[in-house]
Amino acid sequence: MQQVDVVVIGAGASGLMCAAIAGYRGRSVLVLEHTKKIGRKILMSGGGRCNFTNIHNSPANFISANPHFCKSALSRYSAQDFIELVERHGIEFHEKTLGQLFCNESSKEILDMLLTECDWAGVELKTETSVNAIKATDAGYQLSTGHGELEAESVVIATGGLSIPNGGATSFAYDIAQQFDLNILSRSAALVPFTLQPKEKDALKELSGVSHKVRASIGNTSFVESMLFTHRGLSGPAILQISSYWQPGAEVEIDLFPDMDLLAWLKEQREARPKAEISSVMAQQMSKRMAQILCQLFGLSGTMADQSNKALENISGAFHHWKVKPSGTEGYRTAEVTLGGIDTNEIDQKTMAAKKALGLYFIGECLDVTGHLGGHNFQWAWASGVAAGQVV
Ligand code: FAD
Repeated sequence: MQQVDVVVIGAGASGLMCAAIAGYRGRSVLVLEHTKKIGRKILMSGGGRCNFTNIHNSPANFISANPHFCKSALSRYSAQDFIELVERHGIEFHEKTLGQLFCNESSKEILDMLLTECDWAGVELKTETSVNAIKATDAGYQLSTGHGELEAESVVIATGGLSIPNGGATSFAYDIAQQFDLNILSRSAALVPFTLQPKEKDALKELSGVSHKVRASIGNTSFVESMLFTHRGLSGPAILQISSYWQPGAEVEIDLFPDMDLLAWLKEQREARPKAEISSVMAQQMSKRMAQILCQLFGLSGTMADQSNKALENISGAFHHWKVKPSGTEGYRTAEVTLGGIDTNEIDQKTMAAKKALGLYFIGECLDVTGHLGGHNFQWAWASGVAAGQVV
C-alpha cells in the first residue's frame, strides 16, 4: 500500500498551490485528480487569460456567513505574494480594470507555473484517479482509489464547488464533509447570468450582444460595471456580481445611467429638441435600436414637447430605476462559482483544518467563502491553499 504524508484531492487552483507549499516543506505529497485534465478552470478562466488576482483584494470582497473567517489566510498570503510568484516565473500580465490582473498571453502560463512549482517541490500527481472512500485510522487516513489503497497522515479536500459539472465538478467535498459530520450551508450558483420572464425576454432578445454600463443593485449592495443583454436574459460583470446576492423571486434594480442626472439632461433636451420623439432623444445616449426597444418596454412615447415635468421624472425614473425580476439564473451550467458550502465554523481559520477530524483539511471554493468577480476567487484558492500547505 502506498504511504504518503499528504494526499491532496483535486488538482485545481487551491490543490496545486497547497501541494507545492507542503512539498517544499519536505512532506511527501500526492495529488489525485479524477479527470484527465489538470486545472481545467484555470485554463477556462478570464476568457483564456486567467484573472489570477486583484490588487485591491480584501476580506470585503467575499461573501460568507462568517465574514471574518477569510481574514487570516488572506492577510498571510496576499495578492502581492501571488504577483511576486507570477513575476518570478517571468509571466507578463496587465491590469484590465478595477485592479483585475490578467496574463498577457494565456491562462496556461498560470497552470504551467503551478505545475512547475509542484515539480520543484517533488509533488506526485495522478490524474484519472477517483477516491471511492476515505476512512480515519489511528495513523491518519486510508483512502481507497480507483488505482488501489493509500495511507496518508493528512488529507486535503480541494475539489472545488458545483459549477461547470461537465468540466469535472463534483459534490465530493460536501459528501466528505457530511461523512465527517461537518455542517454544510445551502449552496447556489453565483457569478451567473440571469434568465428573464417571457415578456422581457421577448422584448429584449434583439439586444442580444449589446453591452451598457449600469449600476445593478439589490438593497444596499450595488455594482457599477457593464451589463450584457443575452438571448436568455442579462449577463456581464454587473449582473454576475449582483447574482451572488440574489434570492429567487427578488427584484434587481438597474440604473442604466449611473454616471448622469438623466432628468436634468431630459429637461435641456425638451428645450433644445421639442419636436423630437423620446426614443430619438434617448438614442443620443445609447444605440437607436436599444433606445427604441427600452422606450417600448417602459411604455414611453410622444415628443419631448408633450412631456410635463412629471412625465420627464417618470422617464428618468424608468431608466434610473429599472426593476427586473429574473425568472432564475442559468445555474451551475454556466456559473463561475458556488455560493455557500462547508460552514466555516467547522474549520480552523488559520490552517483550514476540520475541527472535528484531525488531519482533514478543506480549501478553496468548497468552503462558504465566495469572492466577487475580478480575481478574488483565485486569491482565496491561493491563500487557503497556502494556509493548509504550511501545516499539513
Ligand atoms: P477548482 O479549481 O475547481 O479545482 C477542483 C479540482 O478538483 C478540479 O480539477 C476537479 O476536476 C477536481 N475534482 C472534483 N471532484 C473530484 C473528485 N471527486 N476527485 C478528484 N478530483 C476532483 N476566478 C477568478 O478569480 N478569476 C477568474 O478569471 C475566474 N474565471 C472563471 C471562469 C470560469 C468559466 C469559471 C467556471 C470559474 C472562474 N473563476 C475565476 C472561479 C475559479 O475558477 C474558482 O473559484 C477556483 O478555480 C476554485 O479553486 P478550487 O481549487 O477550489 O477548485
